[in-house]
Amino acid sequence: MRQLVRRTPRERSTRPLQGYKLAFPMLSADGSEAGFSGVTLGRTHVYGSSSDAVCAYRMRHSSPGGFCECGFYCFHQAADAWALACDAEYRNTVMLEVSASGKYLRYERGLRYAEQQVRAVRLGRCICGRAAQFLVDAGSGTVGWRQLMPTCIACVGTHPALTPAMFGQLAGGLPVTSDDSPQLAPRPVENELESAALVPLLSAEVALLQARLDDVQARLERLTGSG
Ligand SMILES: [Zn+2]
Ligand SMILES: [Zn+2]
Repeated sequence: MRQLVRRTPRERSTRPLQGYKLAFPMLSADGSEAGFSGVTLGRTHVYGSSSDAVCAYRMRHSSPGGFCECGFYCFHQAADAWALACDAEYRNTVMLEVSASGKYLRYERGLRYAEQQVRAVRLGRCICGRAAQFLVDAGSGTVGWRQLMPTCIACVGTHPALTPAMFGQLAGGLPVTSDDSPQLAPRPVENELESAALVPLLSAEVALLQARLDDVQARLERLTGSG
């Protein structure tokens, strides 16, 4: 989220500010608690639905520090968070709708701030491109926490999975919904393609190839003096 360039002087909000961000969904080792971890700084720090920023570099200052990169980050617009989720590095994330409060710095496209309340969670895409409907073990994590990833109904297979409602409950009662960003068009099944429509297309290609072959043949004949 480093593209939140051009910052303005530090401010303090009197009312919570709305924002959107990506986070990795996490499940505690004993499966009793859900949380989130950051996508850039503080990947090893797991936070809950309500938390205060701490310095990711363990410096003794209140976060966000003016000369430090620490603190919570969010975008002003949900579309910016969805755009970031297209990057391969962030494919396994979910989007959080957050309320930012306390000390904060305002950037052109977002905020860096001290206090965060997660309001809602939206599951992103499954790796296959369909809207995700479950959370499964991503095969990675940090001490005490397994990282989860959003998965669709077709890819979940026999993997143990959490439903959005179960995850929301373990995260302290958060609403969790499926991603509503634009879908890829479904791929037509091959045998559903009208062969009648394919034939003229193929014939045109064959005709073009044949014309080229004839041309090559004619040139060869001219060069070799045969024919
Ligand atoms: Zn710091
Ligand atoms: Zn899938």
